[in-house]
Amino acid sequence: MLQIKNLHASVEDKDILKGINLTVNAGEVHAIMGPNGAGKSTLASIIAGNENYEVSEGEILLEGEDISELAPEERAHKGVFLSFQYPVEIPGVSVTNFMKTAINESRKANGIEEMPANEMLKLIREKSELLEIDRKFLSRSLNEGFSGGEKKRNEIFQMAMMQPKLAILDETDSGLDIDALRIVANGVNKLKSQDNAVVVITHYQRLLDYIIPDFVHVLMDGKIVKSGGKELAYELEEKGYDWIKAEMV
Ligand code: ADP
Ligand code: MG
Ligand code: MG
Repeated sequence: MLQIKNLHASVEDKDILKGINLTVNAGEVHAIMGPNGAGKSTLASIIAGNENYEVSEGEILLEGEDISELAPEERAHKGVFLSFQYPVEIPGVSVTNFMKTAINESRKANGIEEMPANEMLKLIREKSELLEIDRKFLSRSLNEGFSGGEKKRNEIFQMAMMQPKLAILDETDSGLDIDALRIVANGVNKLKSQDNAVVVITHYQRLLDYIIPDFVHVLMDGKIVKSGGKELAYELEEKGYDWIKAEMV
């Protein structure tokens, strides 16, 4: 699904990613952990196509195709989804209408005709039931006055509706409350399949109490310095990151 080869990136002449290699197969959940400032969010942004970063070396392949020259929208249309990418408030545009437009734009970009209204309604009903989202929520203006948990719920709903091939969830350092964590985890667990892949980026281990990753990678100072199974997350929770630094010397 995703192959990253020797990715180097910088911002304002500051090197941030220093040779990232990562392979994520369909059906897998990968967690990327690491101390603050390691480059986790930068990696997520670059995969999604954020143009503020200068990629000096390396490749990003989605299903074998190099997407590193594509615009963010083009990557999205190919099935890359990054949470927190569009936390915009749009007064007067409901959650549902926003999703309808996004889905039809994506279909158009892929040469597929608009989704028939009855099919769209069915999809909305199915996904909102799956994620326990009530009708009132669907008719609210996008992100307007949303609580942290509601923003999360909306994002996961967007993810469910778009059915991305590659979902990247950046928990950020903003401290989600336990309800928001459960919403995210529940959504991911219900939506993962053999046809998609999920990359969860998290500073803390607690999200991984709910989403069980197949692989855990430690990103430090712009490099993946250690990879392992889910037990690595517990080890990090217990021992922090310093022991890895010590191992590297
Ligand atoms: P993490 O998500 O692992 O906490 P980030 O990817 O946000 O780390 O940041 C990695 C490093 O790159 C940090 O030192 C951060 O200050 C720097 N950085 C990231 N984005 C920018 C930017 N747009 N301008 C300047 N520095 C940046
Ligand atoms: Mg940070
Ligand atoms: Mg971050």
